Amino acid sequence: MLDRFQLLDWLRETDPAALNELWRRADEVRRAHVGDEVHLRGLVEISNYCRRTCLYCGLRAPRTSLVRYRLSQSDVLDCARKAVKLGYGTVVLQAGEDEGLAAEWVESLVRRIKERTPLAVTLSLGERNEDELERWRAAGADRYLLRFETSNLTLLEHIHPPRKGGSVHDRFTLLRTLKALGYEVGSGVMIGLPGQTLDDLANDLQLFQWLDLDMIGVGPYMPHPETPLGELWAESQREPNDPLADRETMTYKMIALSRLLCPRANIPSTTALATLNPRNGRELGLQRGANVVMPNLTPTAFRTRYELYPGKVCITESAETCGNCLRGRIAALGRRVGQGQGSARRVAPSTMESIS
Ligand code: SAH
Repeated sequence: MLDRFQLLDWLRETDPAALNELWRRADEVRRAHVGDEVHLRGLVEISNYCRRTCLYCGLRAPRTSLVRYRLSQSDVLDCARKAVKLGYGTVVLQAGEDEGLAAEWVESLVRRIKERTPLAVTLSLGERNEDELERWRAAGADRYLLRFETSNLTLLEHIHPPRKGGSVHDRFTLLRTLKALGYEVGSGVMIGLPGQTLDDLANDLQLFQWLDLDMIGVGPYMPHPETPLGELWAESQREPNDPLADRETMTYKMIALSRLLCPRANIPSTTALATLNPRNGRELGLQRGANVVMPNLTPTAFRTRYELYPGKVCITESAETCGNCLRGRIAALGRRVGQGQGSARRVAPSTMESIS
């Protein structure tokens, strides 16, 4: 088992041969615990309204230049049908933290998707109250994604200011609530945030393990020029010998170490990573510990407006083109597309021992 010092050593490592050994070990553990299947989760960005003021995110409420949209239930149901047609096992409904998404609306949407399709439903709607989360779970929602963004609470408070009456700890409390409600729970962080340190990343990894996450999403921070953090990006550049200056390699390290610490977790090779390295970032993520990709199913007319950061890949392709492209890339890696919902395995501790 990797201790904190070993994690920090890996995060500092720059020798290509040593890093190859890390990639190899992560790939081996991935194969042993979650196999060669790559699960496709169809992403539907259901609303870009947001009440929050996060300094890194292009959807932040103060950004008045962004034209806001909210999909109708029939739009989302069309996307879900498309997911089934394209052979995906899961639909992920993501949005800004939108108060206009009423609890009853989400509840009836989840219920309709579950009644009409065999899909697993993942929600990623930000910080909502326990009653709402309970109601959506009862309606059939299977999973919830809520990244804690960084374990550095001072940095978190700065870049993700609590909402009125809320506290900076809300996400950690909610992750526990979600687990108690029976959701499969996912969280994660951004990598390369201004002010973030290797110690923070080691803490992030230890928290993933402690929270016993079913899903772990890590991706590079991508500066958006129309946000406070993005405006300062040029000034926050790191020294070239700072390992965090290379956000791409650091993301692979975080994927690989997440896999070693949490062998059974579902770990996506994220869109942000594919945006940073459009040529083969997604593939390298899959070869260094990841086992999930999230093709975009949002109707193309709205996709550009879900602008967390600029230059997102796959922004103009139709869902069909996107699905086919990913299938080709997965096959080229000698892997296969996962069948069924691809839920996280809950392995009894004794069985875990015998695998590792
Ligand atoms: N409202 C939901 C969904 C937010 S978008 C929530 O708050 O959970 C999903 C994720 O995109 C965020 O959790 C964040 O980690 C990531 N993200 C937002 N802005 C980003 C940026 N500029 N660069 C990289 N990732 C970003």
